[in-house]
Amino acid sequence: MHQITGLREPTTAIISGDDAAERRQANRAVGISAIGLAITGLIEFVVAVFTGSVGLLGDALHNLSDVSTSAVVFLGFRISRRPASERYPYGLERAEDLAGLGVALVIWASAVFAGIQSVHKLLANQGTDHIGAGIAAAVIGILGNQLVARYKLRVGRRIQSATLISDAKHSWLDALSSAGALLGLVAVAAGQRWGDPVAGLAVTLFICHVGWEVTSDIGHRLLDGVDPDVITSAEQAASLVPGVTHAHARARWTGRTLRIDIDGWVDSDLAISDADQLGRVVAVSVHEAVPEARVVTFCPHAAAR
Ligand SMILES: [Zn+2]
Repeated sequence: MHQITGLREPTTAIISGDDAAERRQANRAVGISAIGLAITGLIEFVVAVFTGSVGLLGDALHNLSDVSTSAVVFLGFRISRRPASERYPYGLERAEDLAGLGVALVIWASAVFAGIQSVHKLLANQGTDHIGAGIAAAVIGILGNQLVARYKLRVGRRIQSATLISDAKHSWLDALSSAGALLGLVAVAAGQRWGDPVAGLAVTLFICHVGWEVTSDIGHRLLDGVDPDVITSAEQAASLVPGVTHAHARARWTGRTLRIDIDGWVDSDLAISDADQLGRVVAVSVHEAVPEARVVTFCPHAAAR
């Protein structure tokens, strides 16, 4: 078996282009948003503790979960820059998925915690203290998420990052979760004690949604799942190269690296040096068809006559 590998500069998963300046802008936008959300979540958490509002508690845990997911992306990004070694020949890129599993566990645990607190408060018919402060904290939750959403949307549109734009939509939806907590507290202010625990249950559903997204994403990566379009484009690009009669492709992510293996059927009389050259051409053409590919391996097979 003869393998040819085409390597190129790493691209980030945060943006699709490979312009370093845009990558920096995207990273900065994610970082600043995470700090904004962390402050929002901490304020809500402190107010939730002294008001006893479970709606606020759930919303705070949700915002802090989102921050921890961003933190893991950053951590993974840093770790994945470490060079491969003899002990870890493919590098340490899966560390991000491993950390992601931890984040998923924390998110599910916070959903269970917020859910239990809400049910307990509902059944015990407990009241809420300092409703004014609670309402103010919920408004901060709405504003924090809205500001972050607008900021990410603006940067995302400027550098054309689909990830940032969908992240902005996530934050926009999260403002709805804070609005739920607010509604619950307004109901309590109007004399309806059940308002806050019912809001707490609604917010718990939002946390479950985040938990599901994070878990399915990590599951997909750990099981070597890949977008089927990658396979189709890679096979098409490889079989269009003159000299390749037929091509099969497989691809998988190792952390942020997309690796594509191409099996190509070639003329059985082809010299090894020509097969080597052909492999390089295939790697270039697959890189062009699938820009996110970082490693393309070509294995030539003798076509039946
Ligand atoms: Zn969220």
